[in-house]
Amino acid sequence: MAHPQPRPNVLQIPAYVPGRPPTAREGMTTFKLSSNENPYPPLPGVLEAAVAAVGQVNRYPDMGSTALYAALADRFDVPVERLSVATGSVALIYQLLAAFCDPGDEVVHAWRSFEAYPIAIAAAGAVSVRVPVLADGRHDLDAMAAAVTERTKVVLVCTPNNPTGPAVTQAELDAFLAQVPQRVLVVVDEAYAEFVRTPDPVDGVATQARHDNVVVTRTFSKAYGLAALRVGFAVAPEPVAGALRAVSLPFGVSTVAQAAAIASLAAEAELLERVDALVAERDRVLAGVREAGWRVPDAQGNFVWFELGERTLDFAAAADERGVVVRPFAGEGARVSIGEAEANDRVVALARDFPPPA
Ligand code: PMP
Repeated sequence: MAHPQPRPNVLQIPAYVPGRPPTAREGMTTFKLSSNENPYPPLPGVLEAAVAAVGQVNRYPDMGSTALYAALADRFDVPVERLSVATGSVALIYQLLAAFCDPGDEVVHAWRSFEAYPIAIAAAGAVSVRVPVLADGRHDLDAMAAAVTERTKVVLVCTPNNPTGPAVTQAELDAFLAQVPQRVLVVVDEAYAEFVRTPDPVDGVATQARHDNVVVTRTFSKAYGLAALRVGFAVAPEPVAGALRAVSLPFGVSTVAQAAAIASLAAEAELLERVDALVAERDRVLAGVREAGWRVPDAQGNFVWFELGERTLDFAAAADERGVVVRPFAGEGARVSIGEAEANDRVVALARDFPPPA
């Protein structure tokens, strides 16, 4: 009997592997360093706003997220018409591809990069064109520009790159944008922008204002610590922002998420102090790991990349033994998030005990 069948490319969509929670261990605190989360719990004021919003969950959320749009417009000095909020920045990537790609269109992106890209591209019926990152984990922007064809609709630039770590500089992004045809949409995924400490950091919002083919995606999940509430936003040219809103799920961003995001913007200074502390921890881990003989790429997000090849799962198991869960990409390497100081200490200790590649 014939059953309804999904599109053939949907059957080939690779699974998104979420970061595993830690296994409980007798007499040992365990830490989750597998999903690039913020280890700090919500600020009291943010928690209060979220809890107050829970009292209204019998009603649908404000579908237009009016107050959140107003707060974002104020914070980033862009008109609301150039903003689009969604259930996490991953939803924005899905929406962009759904709005811009016809079946068979090409989407160029670095690889390895964020694992949701090929999934979202396949879900849109488009074709993923993967351009390998350079040996130091940076985007090969020249090769990415060269990979653009007549069929290319979208290019995804992930900065800092998850999972390898380096950030694109503003000069590199400007040079890249000068090479890409105007008809191609360039998405700058700035999920970890607040953690960047390079001398020439990308200013995505300002770049967007200069280019009608650029969209910037940001999230409340990382620096702002609201991963479970699922809220992100895009800054885009007006027609692109409109298209994003048009294809979004109605009532996606919950009342609780809207309230917590607004409260987080109000408490931004305090949240960014926490980001400074995480950056200091990241740099401490990076230094410790390098001192132990590892050649890890520059880390500009809240995570460090260990290239391990065939030893990846051994490394993940050794981390597990120490009560630390990392995110292995079998055969390639492991991504280790920056977490609590004690967790980070264990990562440095592991790097000392686990032999680095020859
Ligand atoms: N982009 C990148 C590069 C990411 O690493 C992530 C989260 N892992 C996201 C986007 C999505 O984050 P969220 O949907 O929580 O905003």
